[in-house]
Formats: sequence, C-alpha cells, structure tokens
Amino acid sequence: MIIVFKPHARDQEIQQVEEHIRQLGYEPRVIRGVERTVIGAVGDELSHRSLEILRSMPFVENVVPIQKRYKLASREYHAEDSVIRIGDRPLGGSHFQVIAGPCAIESREQYLQAARDLTAAGVRIMRASLYKPRTSPYDFQGLGKAGLDIVREAKETYPLAVVTEVVAPEQVPEVAEVADALQIGARNCQNYHLLSKVADAGRPVILKRGMAATVEEWLSAAEYLLVHGCAQVVLCERGIRTFETSTRNTLDISSVAVAQRETHLPVIVDPSHAAGHHALVLPLAKAAIAVGANGLLIEAHPNPVAALSDGFQQLPSHDFHNVMHALAPFVELAGKTMEENRS
Ligand code: PEP
Ligand code: MN
Repeated sequence: MIIVFKPHARDQEIQQVEEHIRQLGYEPRVIRGVERTVIGAVGDELSHRSLEILRSMPFVENVVPIQKRYKLASREYHAEDSVIRIGDRPLGGSHFQVIAGPCAIESREQYLQAARDLTAAGVRIMRASLYKPRTSPYDFQGLGKAGLDIVREAKETYPLAVVTEVVAPEQVPEVAEVADALQIGARNCQNYHLLSKVADAGRPVILKRGMAATVEEWLSAAEYLLVHGCAQVVLCERGIRTFETSTRNTLDISSVAVAQRETHLPVIVDPSHAAGHHALVLPLAKAAIAVGANGLLIEAHPNPVAALSDGFQQLPSHDFHNVMHALAPFVELAGKTMEENRS
C-alpha cells in the first residue's frame, strides 16, 4: 500500500501514521517530496489487516493498493493457462468447449430431445438447469430435485457431462452427485457464503460474472472458490447492465481479454443471456471466440417458442449442428481445438 499525505502534512502527523502502520504489522518507508510525503507500507496485504482505515485520517489524501486482492487466481501465482476437466472434457488453454442446453429442464421429453440433438451436433457438455433464479416469483422456477432422474437418464443414454446451477447451499450435495460441474449464476456471483459451500463440493465451478460486478469483483469472487479449495474454476462473461436497451445485457467482450491477462483460469462466454435474442447469439459467439474465449455457454431448446423460460434467446436444438459448423472455422483460426468432441 502507498499512503499519500495531503500537501504540507506536519511531521507529527506523519509519525502518527507510521506508528499506526507498524501496529497493523507493516514496515513503513517514508518518502519526502517537495510538497508531499508518501509512505510505502511493506508487508503482505493478504495476510495483514487492511490499511484502508488510514483513509479516514484528515491529513491522508489517498491509500493506494499495489497488490491485487486476488492471488490464487492471478497469473503471478500461476503463469500458464489452467486446463480444467468437466467430466472427461478438457476446457482451457487450447481446449475449446461449446456447452449447450435449454435454459431449464422442463420435462423428460424436452430434455432428452435436447440431449439427442445436441450430442448429434457434437456437444459433449450440457446445461442441466434444475433451479432457476427468476426475477419474478411468478415465473417457472425449475423442476428442482424432481429433475435429477432426468439428468441421470440423459447421462446414461448420451455421451454427456452436465453443468447445473445451484442457488442455495442446501442444494449442493444432492446436485453434486449428478452434476459434473456446478454453476454460480450472475445473481449469486457475490454470494460469498454460497461460493464457499460450492467450493466444498469437489466439482469444477462455472462462475458467471454478476451483472453489476467489475472484473476485479468477479475475479475476487473466483478467489473465494480457490481459497476454499476449489481448484477448477471457469469464469463466464454473460453481459452486464448498461444504459443500452437493444440487447438484454451488454456483452463486455473486453472483460474476456482482461480476465485472461489477469488470471490463468479459463474464460467462457454466454452469448444467450447477453443478447436476449436468438438472432444475435451466433454473431456474439463468433466475437467471443475471436477475442480469445475458451468456450461458450449457449441456450438451445427443442422448441424455443414453447419454452417455459428465455424462449426468445434459445436456439432450436435440432439446428445446432449448423451452429457448430458456423463456429468451427473461428475456433480453428483462434488456434484452439474442439477435436475431443468428435471422439
Ligand atoms: C443461466 O445460465 O441459466 C442463467 C440464469 O444465467 P445468468 O445467471 O447469467 O443470468
Ligand atoms: Mn436462461
């Protein structure tokens, strides 16, 4: 931390801050300029108490962190791209995955039809959403645990791994028995209690960016998972809330490049919840691949017009082979491979 004093701070005030810094466990190094003095506080900000409190002193102008608040997620800690496995499917580095499936599991017939269509198109990781965090309490909330047998049957019938969202800690043990990865939705990105419970489950976690979370907050949420023992974290950009209304959310494509510069974790993009419109999903997906995403999370339904949630943005699953064909050259051009999906 660098502590910057207001101009012409008195010696006595500077000494007072030095003393405070020592009490908090840091070593102060004073640098006196012509007008201003700054103090560099040497010590690990992750294992000592925060120096932010010094901001409240009237002669301190600013307290500037020099260390990132996330450590295990950072490239300083782990320089190489991490490759994680969902089921037996690699994701990260040059391994690209398209994860697809309906917004929610609605019935056995609907989900098995989607599984049939999507596996035939080469998809090997499916969305399997049982608990839906809906904005309105009157909307379809998902089948809950009643849908677990449908997921089991899909996995027995088709070569699939599945990703399931959890919205509450008590859902985690039951869902983790069936799911190959757990998803934390945008609304729970900063639900730190849920993050720590999900980390305990021993499954990879897909962490969506909160719709109002900065990249730093998103990466700090990932740090919660890592600190609590979950080494396999995938970041998912899904659009943020802006003034723009022509799309459901604004896909922050630059966050993918920023997150990949800052962390070793795979970063995927959900163009469906960003766009909110089926016609925009493919163009946004292509942009995501071009910027360097390690994968995509796309909503696809056997009959989108009959969907119980997010019908407008879901792609017809029977047409998904065309989506995969359209994306393949972009994936290749980005130097990544979806080869494993053809095995
Ligand atoms: C979802 O992927 O099912 C979902 C609810 O998305 P988000 O959390 O990004 O809104
Ligand atoms: Mn949805």
